[in-house]
Amino acid sequence: MAQEDIFKKLVAHCKEYGYVFQSSEIYDGLGAVYDYGQNGVELKNNIKKYWWDSMVLLHENVVGLDSAIFMHPTIWKASGHVDAFNDPLIDNKDSKKRYRADVLIEDQLGKYEEKMNKEVAKAEKRFGDSFDEKQFRETNPRVIANQEKWNTLHQRFSDALNAGDLAELKQIIEDEGIVCPLSGSRNWTDVRQFNLMFSTEMGSTAEGAAKIYLRPETAQGIFVNYLNVQKTGRMKIPFGIAQIGKAFRNEIVARQFIFRMREFEQMEMQYFVKPGTELDWFDKWKETRISWHRALGFGDENYRFHVHEKLAHYANAAVDVEYKFPFGFKEVEGIHSRTDFDLSQHQKFSGKKIQYYDPELGESYVPYVVETSIGVDRMFLQVVAASYCEEELESSNGQKDTRVVMKLPAVLAPVKLAVMPLVKKDGLPEKAREIIDELKFDFNCQYDEKDSIGKRYRRQDAIGTPFCVTVDHQSLEDQTVTIRYRDTMEQDRVAITELKSIIAEQVSFKELFAKLK
Ligand code: ATP
Repeated sequence: MAQEDIFKKLVAHCKEYGYVFQSSEIYDGLGAVYDYGQNGVELKNNIKKYWWDSMVLLHENVVGLDSAIFMHPTIWKASGHVDAFNDPLIDNKDSKKRYRADVLIEDQLGKYEEKMNKEVAKAEKRFGDSFDEKQFRETNPRVIANQEKWNTLHQRFSDALNAGDLAELKQIIEDEGIVCPLSGSRNWTDVRQFNLMFSTEMGSTAEGAAKIYLRPETAQGIFVNYLNVQKTGRMKIPFGIAQIGKAFRNEIVARQFIFRMREFEQMEMQYFVKPGTELDWFDKWKETRISWHRALGFGDENYRFHVHEKLAHYANAAVDVEYKFPFGFKEVEGIHSRTDFDLSQHQKFSGKKIQYYDPELGESYVPYVVETSIGVDRMFLQVVAASYCEEELESSNGQKDTRVVMKLPAVLAPVKLAVMPLVKKDGLPEKAREIIDELKFDFNCQYDEKDSIGKRYRRQDAIGTPFCVTVDHQSLEDQTVTIRYRDTMEQDRVAITELKSIIAEQVSFKELFAKLK
């Protein structure tokens, strides 16, 4: 099935099974804003716990913070967001649709990559085991031609971005013959800058009201609390401050479901280090973070690093962790070496000294910062995209059957086990309730008695519940139940008293943390 079709199905599945709903749906929705349903919120909380504990529990020098969304407006002047938090936008005059000029060009680069990959895949099929991909890429004329086009475009694009040359961005779009996906036309406006911050007013009287912004990143809340945390926590450099919270960006084009939203959540950690050591820490956090992603078991080949062509005004190194989504490799997380830019700016704009006295050096300095920044929602999308699976099954009467299963890592699954009485009588429901009462303090359990047992299993597969426990008449006699495993669909007969340890082992964060480097 084409990747776009799979993605469409995933979006529909997320709605049908209570993961993600369009915001304000009964009023026809609000663009790029989403709500999380009964299963979505549990998955989201588990993702946040995985991140939070991996930062704050596993690193004794990383502590948490929860700063307010509203902050003094000068903070956004100091950080550069008022002047520079812009995206280059372009409109198509025929469809009246708005696009990000840089994204149109990146998509064009993606098309060249796709063409080359298709040639490689075809040749790989033809040559089988003797296929040498490197040699093929270096010698095949079609691959070489596309690689040259890619290189030229890539160079022009980076130069234009680095120079902030909007006219050149438009020229590239024209020269490449990029068309509006909706109207198919090349009738473009000029490229303009667009600030992504939302603003509102604080204060009740017209004269007294001040324009304030909804934070576009959580990081600034950490920077302006650097002194508070360092002093009250008696933190010694290097140390980190971690925060999870909402961020808001008036994205020009909101596409791809929860990949790009206008209200979203970030998990950010700012690590304060001695000047001159930042690039070592940058490398260290790069490894720590990729290991966090890989530990979930979605396949190492589906992750890659993307080194930034154009560094943000505050950075001296930056890399993205990209995941292979159904719509291609895309950023899930950014790791940035932000230098002393933010703290120095806040020092300048606030007039307060923001420094660290290093007892070993016997001098004070403005610390440098390495940041890890990941979107909760984007991580959520990564997890569900990697877990969604349609399987063909051979049923007992030899007929083909299919099932939709969310192969979520058990530790992240919203519901850990469903307990089902085989029939709704003979004391089986009571026995099932007894089991839930015993386990509900340890795991999120669901009681399910409606429909045939086969249908109930499928329903739980679709939610991603890793274990189904079925109570039958034998259970009343010998205190055993069947436990069915979601991925293999195998069933074991086990003692009720064993359930807790069987499930605990599979859903343990401790086991997951043991895989981290
Ligand atoms: P992009 O290039 O995709 O716009 P960015 O480089 O601006 O992202 P950062 O500012 O580095 O993103 O933000 C850190 C992380 O926050 C991103 O890696 C992503 O996971 C998440 N994020 C950023 N913007 C959005 C958004 N509009 N919707 C959902 N998540 C987002």
